[in-house]
Amino acid sequence: MNSPFLFDGPGVISFSGGRTSGMMLWMTIQAYGGTLPADVTVCFANTGKEEEATLEFVRDCGERWGVPIVWIENRPRNEARGKEFAVVDFATASRRGEPFADLHDEKKFLPNPVARFCTAELKVRPMQRYLKSIGLVEWTTFIGMRADEPLRVARLANQDYGKHEVKEAPLAAAGLTVADVSAFWAAQDFDLGLPNMSGKTMHGNCDLCFLKGGNQVLSLIREKPSRALWWIQQEKNAQTAGSGAGGWFRKDRPSYQAMYDMAMNHGELFPFDDALTDCGCTD
Ligand code: SF4
Repeated sequence: MNSPFLFDGPGVISFSGGRTSGMMLWMTIQAYGGTLPADVTVCFANTGKEEEATLEFVRDCGERWGVPIVWIENRPRNEARGKEFAVVDFATASRRGEPFADLHDEKKFLPNPVARFCTAELKVRPMQRYLKSIGLVEWTTFIGMRADEPLRVARLANQDYGKHEVKEAPLAAAGLTVADVSAFWAAQDFDLGLPNMSGKTMHGNCDLCFLKGGNQVLSLIREKPSRALWWIQQEKNAQTAGSGAGGWFRKDRPSYQAMYDMAMNHGELFPFDDALTDCGCTD
């Protein structure tokens, strides 16, 4: 039986900068005997709101495993050329949320749990534009989803991504779970420099992503108050621009300014954990 880590034709490894997709990358390299073939591309899409440790981890995986990783960022629409992307690297990657803020300026409203366009606009589509720019017409993308995420894996399999792309979750196909991912990284001589909490990386993806639970956001602000400033500014900008209800990341909980104040004044935590686990951005 073929390994789920072998592509049938041109392949793309979508590396989120998390431990799960990092293990997926390593297992795919191993399946090919230590070197990825020329028609397999590894991509990391940077929103500009990742923790520095995530950027270091992406760099380290590439350097230590000897695999080129293409760093992609979204760029604003150009009147003549349409939607654009940029290829960056560890040194030039955005770190102040620039691609994300540009997207807000373009859309005139903020993403929210109902209209969560940031994943598609900042990660999926820029990556697709890059792949087409290097001549790919049809390809299979490996996504870092595990066997303990059956609902997400089922959704991945049932969605239509157009005739150019098929998405697969080889870790799930191989029956690998969060425990396997933790064990894998415990055995490596380097790791993502963010806490591993029973397999969850609370600090992963965009630092204060609106899909993270309220208590989690408060805790992340208390740990490093400056994390809140960009999110506060985006909501202020959207309100100034007259975005109305579209000027908040979440309407069902306090603004980022209010959560910042709450965190700084040791206010009460939310009575419930309102994390929305349906984030399209994988670990
Ligand atoms: S991590 Fe959250 S805020 Fe960032 S792109 Fe994904 S859904 Fe959007």
